[in-house]
Amino acid sequence: MILDGKKVALDLRERLRETVLSYTEQGFRAPKLAILLVGNNPASETYVTNKIKACREVGIEAEKIALPADVTEQQVLEQIQRLNQDDSVDGFIVQLPLPEHISEPKILNAVSYRKDVDGLTPMSMGLTIQGQPALRSATPSGIQSLLAYYHIPTAGKHVVVIGRSNIVGKPMAIMLMQRPYLSLPNMTASSMGDATVTVCHSKTQGLTDICRTADILIVAAGSPKLVTKEMVRPGATVIDVGINRIEDSSSPKGYKLVGDVDFENVEPVAGAISPVPGGVGPMTIASLLQNTVQAYKQHIKQ
Ligand code: NDP
Repeated sequence: MILDGKKVALDLRERLRETVLSYTEQGFRAPKLAILLVGNNPASETYVTNKIKACREVGIEAEKIALPADVTEQQVLEQIQRLNQDDSVDGFIVQLPLPEHISEPKILNAVSYRKDVDGLTPMSMGLTIQGQPALRSATPSGIQSLLAYYHIPTAGKHVVVIGRSNIVGKPMAIMLMQRPYLSLPNMTASSMGDATVTVCHSKTQGLTDICRTADILIVAAGSPKLVTKEMVRPGATVIDVGINRIEDSSSPKGYKLVGDVDFENVEPVAGAISPVPGGVGPMTIASLLQNTVQAYKQHIKQ
């Protein structure tokens, strides 16, 4: 079975559009997301364009704030303070990666957790670890929504996560191992948990054997074809988070996007698998919109 992230994200976005409409019809202003983009990394520019388009389709106002590559760290921090205080902005993100002279932790530490719709600040992560309501990391949330949509349970299952980054691997492992939060409103997907989780990274020994014990294998390494069919137990679910650009002379762009999984050979073995593109990527954007609407609802209540 192919886990069609594009279709599931469209479904989620349609529900968000209806939610936003129900608020604006009552006379509330539309939600607003701001995106801070530093420099001109072409991949980042494309991601930002896609996020803005997705926002507008569901009725979220989106503003891009572009700063030149040579902007100082202090100037970026000033923009963040302004966005933290701007009452017309419900949520904002700092598009990563940042230029080398700007400290990523310092920048993320400055973002108010109430507006942290990427779910990357230490405060959001801390709340997530403690199982308290929080804006949760967008990519892992999107993966949970994808699993929930296809009724793939995580409770009692062995999940192997390859990757231990703050953006994907770590929050994914934490969210899957937790007790479900059935008492929290609107958190059906986030309530999935109760898994037994193993986290692997570049120093892990015996990666193939560990992966073969997984009921669900989540790969976020940034390494094309890292996961081969020998690493997948027949019938297992495989979630490919990787986005890698590889040369492709037959494409007009000169490259194509591939994941971390050898899709062609793994797909016949896996019970379910997410493709790249069209798997986790669209779910990440849908989660960002979902977090923005969540932040908006909290904000207009104040
Ligand atoms: P990082 O580079 O921050 O982390 C990669 C992790 O994978 C590290 O923990 C690293 O181990 C581990 N790793 C790398 N190579 C191997 C290997 N050969 N064997 C085992 N572990 C390995 O990447 P991110 O987490 O930010 O992103 C991972 C991938 O997911 C990238 O391709 C990125 O583009 C993509 N991505 C996709 C998103 C989406 O929406 N679809 C969103 C975010 C990321 P170690 O810690 O030891 O170095």
